[in-house]
Amino acid sequence: MSVFGSLQPREYVTSIYHIHLERLWQNGMRGIITDLDNTLVEWNSPHATEKLIAWLLHVQKLGFRICILSNNDALRVSNFARLVEIPALHKARKPRRRSFYTALQLLKTTREETAMIGDQLFTDILGGNRMGLYTILVEPIHPQEFAGTRLVRVAEKLILRGKKPNMAQAEYFSFDVSGVAKEGEEFHS
Ligand SMILES: [Mg+2]
Repeated sequence: MSVFGSLQPREYVTSIYHIHLERLWQNGMRGIITDLDNTLVEWNSPHATEKLIAWLLHVQKLGFRICILSNNDALRVSNFARLVEIPALHKARKPRRRSFYTALQLLKTTREETAMIGDQLFTDILGGNRMGLYTILVEPIHPQEFAGTRLVRVAEKLILRGKKPNMAQAEYFSFDVSGVAKEGEEFHS
């Protein structure tokens, strides 16, 4: 795979809530490795929203095994992971392969049946593609991040060449005020 090709996600969606989980399952996916900052929550924000917690529960209810793979530090990541009770690896140094192998061991899934979700091309998507994972790019939740990351965003825009997330894909996961998680309408039609 060319360098350019290895930076292209298999799917590009607005948010984790737009990922069609049922279809992922039907396509043989059993494990999900997910980035933390700006993918699940705002950068350096320890707060998991109710919707996020419901989503994480829903993912597991469907049968997926899920873990967090973050380049952020131990304290930040473990605080969050404890909150949502899913395993997490910190200081992962994505896109390097090593932590991805550890994540796969943790999930007990093969590369072919594992998806990687993240908001950054040069860490999440590049790393996932190099491992042969099914890569899903999401739009970053909040623009506040490292100065270095802001430069990376410019490069990402060039690589994606004006590509936009798949807007046709409706939000798959909705969460109503009664606290009941629901799957998207399109799935039932
Ligand atoms: Mg991120």
